[in-house]
Amino acid sequence: MPSLELDALTKTWPELTIRASLTVPDGSLLVIAGPSGCGKSTLLRMTAGLLDADGGRVLVGGSDVSGRSPKERGIGMVFQDAALFPHLDAGGNVAYGLWGRGRSKRERLAEADRLLASVGLEGFGRRRIDSLSGGERQRVALARTLAIQPGIVLFDEPLSSLDPALRKRLRQDIRDEQRRFGLTAVYVTHDLEEALAVADKLAVMDAGAILQCGTPSELWERPDSAGLARFLGSGPCLPIVGHESGRVLTADGNFPLASASAPEGMPLADGAYVFFGRGDAVLSDAPAVAGSGCFTARCMRADYAGDSVDCHMLSGDILCTLRFPAARSPKPGSSARYAVPAENIRLLPKDDADLQSR
Ligand code: ADP
Ligand code: MG
Repeated sequence: MPSLELDALTKTWPELTIRASLTVPDGSLLVIAGPSGCGKSTLLRMTAGLLDADGGRVLVGGSDVSGRSPKERGIGMVFQDAALFPHLDAGGNVAYGLWGRGRSKRERLAEADRLLASVGLEGFGRRRIDSLSGGERQRVALARTLAIQPGIVLFDEPLSSLDPALRKRLRQDIRDEQRRFGLTAVYVTHDLEEALAVADKLAVMDAGAILQCGTPSELWERPDSAGLARFLGSGPCLPIVGHESGRVLTADGNFPLASASAPEGMPLADGAYVFFGRGDAVLSDAPAVAGSGCFTARCMRADYAGDSVDCHMLSGDILCTLRFPAARSPKPGSSARYAVPAENIRLLPKDDADLQSR
């Protein structure tokens, strides 16, 4: 299947300019996650050819398809609300994508039944749309998209109207189908857990722009801004209030400067942040070990999470979440010193507006 590339694809709405460059290697799944109103649907609709871009290019398999219709691009799209035709049965909806391919009606309906079976809906061909559950409708919508034999499929929050248990199952089904057909796919969601679970690569979008794109673990472990770290919730960001003999100071802690990794060229000014993973802090009686970070924090609340406990901790006046093994978690109300290994500490730059829903 072809690769997909968005090259400075741009749309200017009165309230927001959306502009993005992204590459999706063939057969892989890129997830775009971001708060509601950041421009995800606009970006997908421009990619599919459903909305004219103001600038930039869409490349499919390396060729510029910018002037072409959705069908000519070989790009299919699955929407949140399935958008099925209520007057056609399930098979009719799927066969709709097969019109004009020089086949008889019977052949088209037989093909539609095969496609329905391939998405787990064997024998559903003659079922009325209003007799189907939300999950079944989404599967019909996927089969209808697959009917046009797209090399590339764009999913725009396909599961957001479904309940959580069904979402979990269907997202895995979509992932399996995408792999089985070798499709190149872009999957938009505002559900972070879903994003991390299905993505080969994850792009986080805010206010019309891509903030960072990488594998889920790269973004989780090495976010390059405090806003992104907070959106992902992967670890605390403690504001730096000064530095002193090779260490940066936070309100109630200090961290080694030399070994800390920081984005290239980042000035270590006050206003920057110390970041580490939410599971990286360990209880420590020892005075600061050279090279490791340490801070004092009070446990305000402990949320039991099965094999672990998520503790809401106050360090200085910063509230953050740390994750501990269930057997070694602090008790609510207790204050203690924690250590963070040097290799897990990162510094993040100043200027970190939180991601905004519109
Ligand atoms: P998302 O899918 O991330 O929720 P959208 O792409 O639907 O975001 O919309 C992002 C923003 O773009 C909207 O908040 C709005 O300001 C603007 N926008 C989207 N569609 C239109 C439109 N048809 N006319 C004017 N502005 C629009
Ligand atoms: Mg949208």
